[in-house]
Amino acid sequence: MERAAHLRYPFPVKIPLLGFSLLAVGTVIYSCKKDDAATTVTPTGSADIMAVVKAKYLTTQGVTVSTSGSSITLKSDGLPHNHKTPYWGAGHVLYEDFPSGYHANVNTSMSARNYAMTIAATPGAASSPEATSLGPIGMALNGVPIYNDQEGGNRALDAQTITTFDYSGAHPGPGQDYHYHTTGRYTSQNDAKLIGFLRDGFPIYGRKDTTGVYPTLDTYGGHTGATQDFPAGIYHYHAANTNYLNSGYYVLKSGSYYGTKGTFTF
Ligand SMILES: [Zn+2]
Ligand SMILES: [Zn+2]
Repeated sequence: MERAAHLRYPFPVKIPLLGFSLLAVGTVIYSCKKDDAATTVTPTGSADIMAVVKAKYLTTQGVTVSTSGSSITLKSDGLPHNHKTPYWGAGHVLYEDFPSGYHANVNTSMSARNYAMTIAATPGAASSPEATSLGPIGMALNGVPIYNDQEGGNRALDAQTITTFDYSGAHPGPGQDYHYHTTGRYTSQNDAKLIGFLRDGFPIYGRKDTTGVYPTLDTYGGHTGATQDFPAGIYHYHAANTNYLNSGYYVLKSGSYYGTKGTFTF
């Protein structure tokens, strides 16, 4: 009788102990990771961008955000519904003239497109970084595509091309595809504003960090640290703090992606 009770006893005792010790190990590992993220921030950019993407893209301006597993798809018509540009055309409620001395390029107008950018919810560093190329390399919060510092034929933006920019450092391409090359009046001007996300899923900000300083950037034009949207830290790009060809415009992004490029269809 006594024996039987003795035999039965170890089981209910042992199982909770095992469960408790596993839980304890799990908690220790988790809290170590959490501490690392708060202090040194892993350079692989392990932050989850889902919540910020959902909160910051201008769904009121026609941008749609959908998710599938661990990927996010942003869709837009690529037009700057939230700001003025001469490329809306005279008579449009959002029309404004060019900066003094500037004028339309041969693509005098812009038209709606069907853009879809798909990025990872937890972007990571690429094992072999890929160069950005002509065409959309990211999407601003209003759905307008972000281009690098090149024009057709992989030529660097030149002074002539820049004279076709509006106040946003943007113009339409041959396909009437309006796009940003630089910072500007309606996106970011010498500040730390979130501009959008590039195709590798990492956010791009104005020239400053939230602390008000111009950060020292790596070869990709970014660095890892806290931002207004990611206080625990994330890899992020900044617009280059270089007055491009003394034009007063600041290129958003040049060179290679830091992370693995997602898709951008149109
Ligand atoms: Zn262009
Ligand atoms: Zn920064």
